[in-house]
Amino acid sequence: MSIQPPLDFDAIGVGAGFAGLALAHHLREAGLSIRIFDRASDIGGTWTWNRYPGAATDSEGYYYCLTFSKEVLQEWSWSQRYPGWEETHRYLHFVADKTNLWPHIQLNTEIVAAQYQEDAGYWRVVTSAGEQYTCKYFISAMGMISHPYMPDIKGIDTFKGPIFHSSRWPQDGLDYAGKRVGIIGCGATTVQMLPVMAQTAADVTVFQRTPNFVMPAVQETTTPERDKEIKDNYEDIIAKCRNHVFGMAFDSPVGRNLADTPPEEVQRIFEEHWPRGSFRFVFETFDDLLSSAESNKAAADFIASKIKEKVNDPVVAELLTPKGYPLFAKRPPLDHGFYEAFNRDNVHLVDIKDTEPLVAITETGVQTTNNLYEFDIIVLATGFQAYTGAPEAVDIRGLDGVLLRDKWQDESASIMGVCVADFPNLFLITGPQAPFANLPTSIEQNILWITDCIKKMQREDYDVFAPRLQAQEEWSQHTAEIHAQTLMAQGDKVNSWMMGANIENRKPRVLIYFGGANVYYDKLRESVEAGFPELEFERLEA
Ligand code: NAP
Repeated sequence: MSIQPPLDFDAIGVGAGFAGLALAHHLREAGLSIRIFDRASDIGGTWTWNRYPGAATDSEGYYYCLTFSKEVLQEWSWSQRYPGWEETHRYLHFVADKTNLWPHIQLNTEIVAAQYQEDAGYWRVVTSAGEQYTCKYFISAMGMISHPYMPDIKGIDTFKGPIFHSSRWPQDGLDYAGKRVGIIGCGATTVQMLPVMAQTAADVTVFQRTPNFVMPAVQETTTPERDKEIKDNYEDIIAKCRNHVFGMAFDSPVGRNLADTPPEEVQRIFEEHWPRGSFRFVFETFDDLLSSAESNKAAADFIASKIKEKVNDPVVAELLTPKGYPLFAKRPPLDHGFYEAFNRDNVHLVDIKDTEPLVAITETGVQTTNNLYEFDIIVLATGFQAYTGAPEAVDIRGLDGVLLRDKWQDESASIMGVCVADFPNLFLITGPQAPFANLPTSIEQNILWITDCIKKMQREDYDVFAPRLQAQEEWSQHTAEIHAQTLMAQGDKVNSWMMGANIENRKPRVLIYFGGANVYYDKLRESVEAGFPELEFERLEA
């Protein structure tokens, strides 16, 4: 290999959401020149695209945040327990303003290709306008739930009214008041959207295939006292996230298994925790809900009983009750009035799994085997190609011109979700086979690893790192073994995106490291301390 030519940037990152902003900060602090590109007209990533009514975080705001600036942590106050998309978007602007990240960000620029230049060890990155930029490190900050999954439904292009994916909500808003709305899909997005839309739409009809376990969110206004308590305890909050199995500031493990608890006590504990809201119902009740099938079933039965309490029509309640799969085999959504919405006269549920399968979208609505439902607006809340969708949508070519999307055709292997064999000097933030956890926590832990790796290369004058295939095989095998032991491995039965099983004509795969986010963060740290044994470092000829 010959020496690298002068490059436009030390690092190029794609995506100006939480990950891109944190990346820009950390690499700038490490002395690198960095440019973050985003095709959107604003920063925010998920929180720029997902503008559907009711869009809000499912993590509580006080730990769904970046922690690299003590000033930001102290000066920003969340108005609610679960901030809506507008507030989260404002927060990201606040972060960019406060930490002066704007000079590193280029918006309205879509990256369509990135090719590794093997002869001189650098990346050439191409925009949709045909501009080219070179960099030593190419980094995906494209998000792990960002690439919309568009179902292959007959006639989808024929509908005369507005029809769009939920994450491509019209950026200038959409007047749905007094309109008839059809929503296809019934995941976390619909769970948030339905209760808000139902308040002003003439009618909302939800087409559901698989019901979900929906747990209460319990929205709350942040009082000045609570805000102070949060700000006084940020060191503890950050440490809790870093040490939690899902990267959240929860008090778990609780040191109690359901299997060892008398049934009356189990019910008492479930009842006590249910009104507290959030994923705390799973993580702060018993430690064995995601590992023991019997304990999981007890929690699932409890949620089913709550659905029956909340939904007046027993037929609808039955249709909304998950069957035949464990809690967390699909990612459970949080409820802001979802079940109660079905008690309204203007909300309808259509079971398209068993009762009347969806046949087509027509010029005027949705055709099932039994009925034609007419609408003014159709929302495709059909989910995402998680983890792999966004990087695969870019023409990323590594050694010998190999395409990342071809590499991931049958399995989506990586080393700890941060790099991939045959793709030197490429980093991923929360790539496949990383944990699914509170995302800002995982993002920051990934970026610390990336920054430490780059610092080592600077210190020791390396030009190229090549991820070792053996390290990748070991990580993938380890991830698969852990996955197989969990109840989440049943996600392929119910199209869970956590296994890529929601993508038609594509093999389900092990997409997530389920050994615990805290364990994974330890492994990242161990890798740094051991000098990155997963990577082979190289100097180019002078
Ligand atoms: P999702 O959970 O994957 O749900 C997609 C829905 O579309 C499912 O009900 C699915 O049915 C249905 N569907 C897919 N293809 C279909 C087809 N061809 N015909 C009929 N129905 C079809 O997607 P999502 O609701 O957008 O949520 C995805 C993830 O994004 C969440 O799990 C969460 O991690 C994240 N998210 C987070 C938040 C938050 O934190 N606030 C909010 C929204 C989303 P099946 O289940 O039968 O496949």
